[in-house]
Amino acid sequence: MNAAAPAPAAILDRIRRHLVALKMPTAIERLDGLVQRFEQGQINPYELLEQLLAEERHLRENRRVKMALLTARLTTLKTLESFDFSFQPSLDRNRILSLAQLQFIERREVIHFLGPPGTGKSHLAIALGLEAVKVGKSVYFTSLGELVSALAKAEREGQLRERIRFYARNALLIIDEIGYLPLQSGGANLFFQLVNARYERGALILTSNRGFGEWGEIFGDPVVASALLDRLLHHAIVIAIEGNSYRLREHAELVPEPLRTAALRLPQKAPEPPPKRRGRPRKHPLPTSAPLKTAHS
Ligand code: ADP
Ligand code: MG
Repeated sequence: MNAAAPAPAAILDRIRRHLVALKMPTAIERLDGLVQRFEQGQINPYELLEQLLAEERHLRENRRVKMALLTARLTTLKTLESFDFSFQPSLDRNRILSLAQLQFIERREVIHFLGPPGTGKSHLAIALGLEAVKVGKSVYFTSLGELVSALAKAEREGQLRERIRFYARNALLIIDEIGYLPLQSGGANLFFQLVNARYERGALILTSNRGFGEWGEIFGDPVVASALLDRLLHHAIVIAIEGNSYRLREHAELVPEPLRTAALRLPQKAPEPPPKRRGRPRKHPLPTSAPLKTAHS
């Protein structure tokens, strides 16, 4: 390309003022460099305009994603690109990559990542959350323990309905670490209310080191556990990871085999009686015997 006539200073000045008014700081910063490349014949006016807009847009997009990740509480950055599928041969890579297309959010499905500690359950859940944030979906990440504490606090403060609404309004709610720690008393009931509020209204990703058969123990009440599973296995995608801990990959020989592969088992407490509910009566009564449906994938 031949060198172009220099851009008229008065016009450049007006462009700069437009960019200031439009709050486009990156474009202002890049303008001189791009004009110079245009004058040297390296780019044409269309390319100048396109690159100016692209840089501004790119920066805004990055800023939006950063803010949305904070709001979603996705503060540790885990990506699908950084996941080593060769370390976890039981995982179907294509299946995970197709989940990253996010149709499960549109279909309001529930993804369960099951497996022993360190097998990448949280990593994959966070990575899918990141994909959802990138395309502008509202996401919230929490552990079951934190979720139940927050609901219990809200209940004490008479704010339970608002708190449930808060969790229910995200397009994707990620609930990590089901089964690691014993739930506080009344926790199963609070979790049930949330699951009910989201049922068929929003997508979920759950991670757990325990099988569904152990949910009665985890939630301290087989009736609530069965009602939970009834909802959480309807429209569900179950991904079981049967591998070794990535955390222990360099020191696996130091951990005895049964501990390496077995799901973490905590000392069992005697089952507590079902917690007494306070507050207003339940809208959806718990079924006395909810049949367990099998996941369709
Ligand atoms: P889990 O939730 O199953 O206990 P995490 O997802 O927290 O395990 O994984 C433990 C650590 O190992 C995290 O830092 C995670 O990023 C990393 N990790 C786990 N599996 C892989 C993998 N296949 N490739 C890369 N990093 C992995
Ligand atoms: Mg985890």
